[in-house]
Amino acid sequence: MRKISVFVILVLTVIFPSPAFSQVKVPVLIYHSIDAYTGHGEKELYVTPENFEKQLLYLKKQGYTPLTFEKWQELKRVKKPIFITFDDGYKNNLTILPIFQRAASPQFHPAATIFVISDFIGRPNRLSPADLKKFVDSGFFSIQSHTATHPDLTKTKNLSYELADSKRKIEAITSQPVIAVAYPYGKVNSRVVEETKKNYTFGLSTIPKFFTESGQKNENYLIPRLYVAYSTTIEDFAKLLKES
Ligand SMILES: [Zn+2]
Repeated sequence: MRKISVFVILVLTVIFPSPAFSQVKVPVLIYHSIDAYTGHGEKELYVTPENFEKQLLYLKKQGYTPLTFEKWQELKRVKKPIFITFDDGYKNNLTILPIFQRAASPQFHPAATIFVISDFIGRPNRLSPADLKKFVDSGFFSIQSHTATHPDLTKTKNLSYELADSKRKIEAITSQPVIAVAYPYGKVNSRVVEETKKNYTFGLSTIPKFFTESGQKNENYLIPRLYVAYSTTIEDFAKLLKES
């Protein structure tokens, strides 16, 4: 009798996996500039290299597995998956590379996605084609699209230029597939999603919560992200990863 009950429970567990096993809460972090703030622009768009390194080492210590969007299918296979993303393609993102190199170990492989604005590549304060290639060659980075000119996509007329042309331009530089787009200002509507689906597998917003796979329509085109700011302390950072 007892053996039968155990068997029944096992069968039920396979048919109806508990939410704890079937639903992974995935943090997708969003950063912009990694640099000291010198009084130019919006302060909260900066994170100092020192703070960024502390945050990365926290992820390492806590056993997180940083992923890029090419490895989406590993979400349910790896321990504590996390995505680290950078928007706008600032030149100061070059400071991330030595931080990643220092943090890398046989157990911890840093990985991040940089969303670049294709028409801005090579501007004085933005990453150049050579920088992007260097990032790709390092094995730590995936370079993806943040559109061609950074408009509010819900208002722009030329969606095809912003989505399809930016993808092609970035792919021509990196020789890697561009499969994800970060919507400027997180602005997205159903028209934008439909156009995005023609060119990309993933679309990222700035809704501040964890990503949880729920099987909802278009959920991979409305991926939320958790904001890390200048004022985020390491305690805030730990809390950010526990909440939402
Ligand atoms: Zn942006």
